[in-house]
Amino acid sequence: MVASSLLRKNPKLHIGIVEPSEEHAYQPAWTLVGGGTYRFQNTKRPMGSVMPKNADWIKDKVVKVNAETNTVYTQKESELYYEYLVLAPGLVLDPSLVEGLSNVLGTNNVCSNYTNPEYTWEVIKNFKGGTALFIQPPKPYKCGGAPQKIMYLADDHFRKKGIRNKTKVVLASASNAIFSVKEIADTLWKVINRKKINVRFQHEMVKLDADKKIAWFKAAEGFEERHPVLTDLEEKEGLVGIKYDMIHVVPTNVAPPFIAHSRLADEKGWTDVDAKTLQHKKYPNIFSLGDASNLPTSKTGAAIRKQAPVVVNNLLGMIATKELEEKGYDGYTSCPFVTGYGKMVLAEFDYNKKFKPDPKLKRMLIKDSSKEHWRLWILKKYILPYLYWNKMLKGKEV
Ligand SMILES: Cc1cc2nc3c(=O)[nH]c(=O)nc-3n(C[C@H](O)[C@H](O)[C@H](O)COP(=O)(O)OP(=O)(O)OC[C@H]3O[C@@H](n4cnc5c(N)ncnc54)[C@H](O)[C@@H]3O)c2cc1C
Repeated sequence: MVASSLLRKNPKLHIGIVEPSEEHAYQPAWTLVGGGTYRFQNTKRPMGSVMPKNADWIKDKVVKVNAETNTVYTQKESELYYEYLVLAPGLVLDPSLVEGLSNVLGTNNVCSNYTNPEYTWEVIKNFKGGTALFIQPPKPYKCGGAPQKIMYLADDHFRKKGIRNKTKVVLASASNAIFSVKEIADTLWKVINRKKINVRFQHEMVKLDADKKIAWFKAAEGFEERHPVLTDLEEKEGLVGIKYDMIHVVPTNVAPPFIAHSRLADEKGWTDVDAKTLQHKKYPNIFSLGDASNLPTSKTGAAIRKQAPVVVNNLLGMIATKELEEKGYDGYTSCPFVTGYGKMVLAEFDYNKKFKPDPKLKRMLIKDSSKEHWRLWILKKYILPYLYWNKMLKGKEV
């Protein structure tokens, strides 16, 4: 997005993109893949087809950046020099940070839309009843709503299949609130009450025993719970164990090691940028956006849609005058909360967690996007993927 947009505005720029993958994926549709309503193959395109024509694609992986000498080191042992650098390598999933998870992820009814949404659908489709456990990990992780969205779809599927009455749907969340934006939280509570989902707050999964099918949690004392259903809880060494028949997890999201172990990182490992200008706090010729950055907002593609024009504008300003223009990012992010098949709520908000619905939604005859609406589902399933592939990746502002 950034490279395409830069080249649209100044075709004379020399841009190299270091990118090792052969494919690019539209990850937001993985929720729908996990819910059996979108083909995994349709979320991916060859990387060559999304690369801007006038940029050099360097098929390699960055292993180190020396910001003092403006040098990028790659896996194939080349050294690349830059005048300006944009860092957008996303994040890394590290299942090893939950004991017992690495070896069983993607098998034994332990699924994750973050790693293999096709397996999630296999698990949900073949589920015959019992406890369906959904994990919402501590922040940060990409797409704040993804752990809940797949749960709402699974609940809907179990109802359609006629097995919901013999199924306990449980959300174990590390957070102490269902969502941080009041208008959206109000709607989600209505959904949860309607679906009678057991919500257990302040539960952080630290261990998984896939042989016994027990997930172990650090649970805060006096945690809040809604619609309790579990009668077979275990307790050991200060941990609470929940027995499950299927479990959807989110492997721990961490910063890419080449950033985390460098002077580019903040104390948590993410690229340390100014929240408004997206310029690196120490190195003025470096910008960062997306999941790898430490921008204090929810990590989503929707956020990047608003971050990219700021980076482009500020970078062009730096090239022209060595000064930043005043264009700033307000923390806009959005989370399309699928609440069932054919239903969605659109959480759009900024750094202040203020609900900020896009005025363009009115054109779709959506008066209040904080309420469930079938037109929002159409937006999620058809319109957003179209805009992503045909506009955003081509550097056009939408
Ligand atoms: C299940 C799921 C559901 C989601 N739902 C939504 C949603 O509904 N709406 C929404 O807006 N967002 C959603 N997201 C989040 C969204 O997909 C991400 O926030 C977004 O893709 C992040 O973009 P990025 O460019 O920062 O990173 P990525 O898209 O991960 O891209 C990073 C790129 O950098 C490359 N790279 C990595 N390391 C290196 C290296 N060392 N050297 C060179 N290249 C490297 C990778 O190959 C990759 O191509 C969802 C994500 C998931 C997993």
